[in-house]
Amino acid sequence: MKIEVDTHTHSIASVHAYSTIDELALGARRRRLRGFVITEHGPELQGTPHRYYFGNLKVLPEKMRGVYVFHGAELNIMDKAGHVDLDKAYIKPLHFVMAGFHEQCFESRSAEVNTHALIAAIENPLVDGISHPGNPAFPVDFEAVVKAAVRAGKTLEINDSSFRVRAGSATTCREVAALCKKHGALITCGSDAHIANDVGNVKTALAVIREAGINKEHIVNRTLASFRDFCTKRKAARAYL
Ligand SMILES: [Zn+2]
Ligand SMILES: [Zn+2]
Repeated sequence: MKIEVDTHTHSIASVHAYSTIDELALGARRRRLRGFVITEHGPELQGTPHRYYFGNLKVLPEKMRGVYVFHGAELNIMDKAGHVDLDKAYIKPLHFVMAGFHEQCFESRSAEVNTHALIAAIENPLVDGISHPGNPAFPVDFEAVVKAAVRAGKTLEINDSSFRVRAGSATTCREVAALCKKHGALITCGSDAHIANDVGNVKTALAVIREAGINKEHIVNRTLASFRDFCTKRKAARAYL
């Protein structure tokens, strides 16, 4: 099993990442991907782009180095009501919008409060999917989260970087994957690359997905066509907001 589109990458538009978009495209090409999504952090995280960055993504060519470049974001969940840190006008034209917990923007509280916030973000019509829901720093009721994602038709991510940088993820991400299999949730498999060499580096995440027995039809970024299909549906849903 492989993926054709990496749904989670960062460029030097974030001060804690180290490659340009052109270098990310080269990295994607080296791994024989057909596309990747640039998912810069929302503006409330320190050292991340101003909202104008998202407004101007349209200047990028559709393909760079022979690889499709999709416009995305990894927004911050800001409160218990599941609000995110970018205005609707900037979100609507994007191809793929993730939201996730980051310590600077949402302090982890009880599992009950975290679960409430994460489900509210899943139900936020501006959001297409959740980044690293298995992050052990934010304990949640995984089964409730997975069920909410299925109800809303949103994606949950199995994030390859988690296995390297978020301690304890080997257990939590397996738990998320098993529940996604059990309830038939849609998932994405993303590298969360902060440097070109890591674009498409999803070996561990794919192994966990395989081990859980997740149906390949539920991996929305498995092929360019399946990813485009999901984005088209989501963008149409956001158009009415
Ligand atoms: Zn993140
Ligand atoms: Zn990220």
